[in-house]
Amino acid sequence: MIAEIISVGTEIILGSTLNTNAHYITKKLSYMGIDVYFHTTVIDDPKLLEDAINIGMKRSDLLIFTGGLGPTYDDMTKEVVAKTLGIKLILNNSIEENIKKYFEKTNRPMTSNNIKQAYMPEGSIILKNEIGTAPGIYIEYNSKIFILLPGPPKEMELMLNKYALPLIKQDNIIKVKTINTIGIGESALEDMLKDLIGNTQNPSIATYAKDGRVDIKIIVKGTNEEKANKLLENTIEKIDSKISKYIYSYEDESIEQTLYKKLLDKNMTIAFCESCTGGLIVSRFTRIPGVSQVLDRGIVTYSNKAKIEELGVKKETLNKYGAVSEQVAIEMAMGLLNKTEVDIALSTTGIAGPSGGNEKKPVGLVYIGIATDNNAYAIKSIFNGDRTTIQNRTTMKAFDELRKII
Ligand code: ATP
Ligand code: MG
Repeated sequence: MIAEIISVGTEIILGSTLNTNAHYITKKLSYMGIDVYFHTTVIDDPKLLEDAINIGMKRSDLLIFTGGLGPTYDDMTKEVVAKTLGIKLILNNSIEENIKKYFEKTNRPMTSNNIKQAYMPEGSIILKNEIGTAPGIYIEYNSKIFILLPGPPKEMELMLNKYALPLIKQDNIIKVKTINTIGIGESALEDMLKDLIGNTQNPSIATYAKDGRVDIKIIVKGTNEEKANKLLENTIEKIDSKISKYIYSYEDESIEQTLYKKLLDKNMTIAFCESCTGGLIVSRFTRIPGVSQVLDRGIVTYSNKAKIEELGVKKETLNKYGAVSEQVAIEMAMGLLNKTEVDIALSTTGIAGPSGGNEKKPVGLVYIGIATDNNAYAIKSIFNGDRTTIQNRTTMKAFDELRKII
């Protein structure tokens, strides 16, 4: 089944509304194994919308519209779809009642154009709008499916998930799994998986680079649950055998979430002292709800003075090796470990740039120090990119190193 999203609204074309609906719907459909081949966006113009519908009908089996279902004059999606398909609009009394009730409840006067929303294409299925007034519409016509959804994302999402998607019949059971990898680029990963990726439509395997990690999305289809599960397991095993050392999770989650779960599982605690990342590590870590169970503290020790005062880094070490050095990274982590009662302390020190680098210590040079009760060491990296990228990469690397040792 080939699907097309038709987003209606001049504001989207003008750039005042970001088309998050198309993104959301596409994601949902792809998880059902439905291929979205086209995104069409069209201004609020009946003739152009009609053209878009005619083109869409030729190339797609499922057309999902968003926007233009409301009561105002420029809301015309339903009217144009009905006209293009040659379907009559008929007043639906129960919708009329609902709209009246909605206005009574919200204590607002109902204007006459609101009644426009109570007219529905003949033979269509009405999709309830639980949080707004404009109902959605499901039409089957010439073996094609037309689904009309409202523009406001909250209304659209609820209606899509609760009422629209369950109406789309699928011959196959679809299973989707996302595997998260880190420490390898997308093209290198794809190369390692090329035998698997290029081979078939089922399973379909694709890679997606995302915030310093690469996700592998597997979609399998099977005629029953058991067959689909078997194929999925099989595919995961094959992927595993090729790239297991880069996989950090099979749960479609961030690296810090994996780290958090591992710490929780092992009943361990952690603390961070950050120089070049300026608190980014702890900031990202604290976005996870419940993190207080494993996180003791994060401190930003940016100056030499702070490193000495807060962490007990030796003045001589700083003078001899410089703040960005293996020795200082280790002393920072050890200092934090001694000061706290955590199981693991992690430090960062590096040159995030754009200035401050030299031949021996270039921009992008970063040391991550890790101290535990029986070990203390530093990992040297040289990252490319601007200041923000270097800070982000350091953060990802820090989480990755930690999850590896736990
Ligand atoms: P309403 O009854 O609110 O008028 P509607 O179905 O007529 O709903 P529109 O008038 O087209 O929808 O859009 C209403 C609002 O919904 C827009 O101002 C915008 O904020 C949001 N919206 C519309 N289309 C999209 C889209 N494709 N992506 C994200 N938001 C959208
Ligand atoms: Mg509107």
